[in-house]
Amino acid sequence: MKTDLVDSIKQTTEGQVADKILRSCVHCGFCNATCPTYQILGDENDGPRGRIYLIKQMLEGAEVTASTRTHLDRCLTCRNCETTCPSGVQYAHLLEIGRKYIEEKTERPFKERFVRDALANTLPYRGRFKFLLRSGRLFSLFLPKKIRRKMPAKVAQGAWPQAQQQRRMLILDGCVQPVLSPDINSATARVLDKLGITLVNIKKAGCCGAVSLHLSKEDSAIAMMKHNIDVWWQEIESGAEAIVTTASGCGVMIKDYYQYLQNDAEYAEKARHISILCKDIAEIIANEDYSTLASKESKTISWHPPCTLQHGQKITGVVEKILTDCGYQLNPIKDVHLCCGSAGTYSILQADLSTKLGDNKINNLEADQPEMIVTGNIGCQTHLQERTKTPVKHWIHLLDKAKGA
Ligand code: SF4
Ligand code: SF4
Repeated sequence: MKTDLVDSIKQTTEGQVADKILRSCVHCGFCNATCPTYQILGDENDGPRGRIYLIKQMLEGAEVTASTRTHLDRCLTCRNCETTCPSGVQYAHLLEIGRKYIEEKTERPFKERFVRDALANTLPYRGRFKFLLRSGRLFSLFLPKKIRRKMPAKVAQGAWPQAQQQRRMLILDGCVQPVLSPDINSATARVLDKLGITLVNIKKAGCCGAVSLHLSKEDSAIAMMKHNIDVWWQEIESGAEAIVTTASGCGVMIKDYYQYLQNDAEYAEKARHISILCKDIAEIIANEDYSTLASKESKTISWHPPCTLQHGQKITGVVEKILTDCGYQLNPIKDVHLCCGSAGTYSILQADLSTKLGDNKINNLEADQPEMIVTGNIGCQTHLQERTKTPVKHWIHLLDKAKGA
């Protein structure tokens, strides 16, 4: 696509990146076919091609309006369009540049600013989020039903195995997951221990930065990235093989640390190394001999691949193979490529669209009456569990439970 960005933007690094991405789009519109918001709303401006065009117009000097902001806000950042695009357009990166620009040029109404600031100042901080959840549980009777539904039942963390293996990997605890489902990483530690790997949790590491970035708070996100790099670095220098993530939303973020820090003289090289070391738990297990984890019971499972795993990290078929090899039967799922509507803070900020997508997804996942639904991202897990009595778990529990750990 031909572009004519205003000079002041074109001279910045971000402007040059945006220009390159815009030029790679041939405006064919194939991406609209797999865009969840275009499917629901049917408006060109609520699909990837339209959003790309809106961003182009803004960067070429057109008036920046609240309407443009709304169309960009409605994007889930699911990156389904990137998977579909035959020209390799890096849509998510362009969207981020567009969103940042629009935040600088327009002011949101007070209520929106308040909610976004509240989310940015709570969710990425484990202690604050824990306090909020505890208070919510305590006073749940006084809360509206739609908020009560979002609070998952309390789960115990479970035992963490002794550090006894020579091989060591780090795990990202993150922010929301250890509060909502602290059992996921301890199950991961037990599974990896059986495979001869000690999982080390550096408690000082915090949010990966994704929540802040999605709320267009790039400075906070960068500070979080640097903090994690600092607290991991010693372990990495002393031989930790990988940084394991069990929430695919965090994984896709850490794999992008280099992209955000490549121009930072102090952190660029470390960020590059960390991005390479970051692996989803599925990638780790797929490379080990996991035959000892096979289950004796043959449960029928519905697997929901999070967008951040299938479209963000481009990991497809890996969890499916591990679970099938371990004896589970996986149901075929209609529209498996579509987002469940969780998408970080989207379920709060775009509740109507999120609800529609969540309801569609759960109907598809339950079509063949699974005994359990499994996924690989805490946001999807809680969003789906809100809508069903069928247990929704992280898939790692199936391997952990297989040997009665
Ligand atoms: S993003 Fe890709 S699929 Fe969509 S219009 Fe541009 S080139 Fe076509
Ligand atoms: S990221 Fe998802 S919601 Fe956003 S334009 Fe692409 S397909 Fe549509």
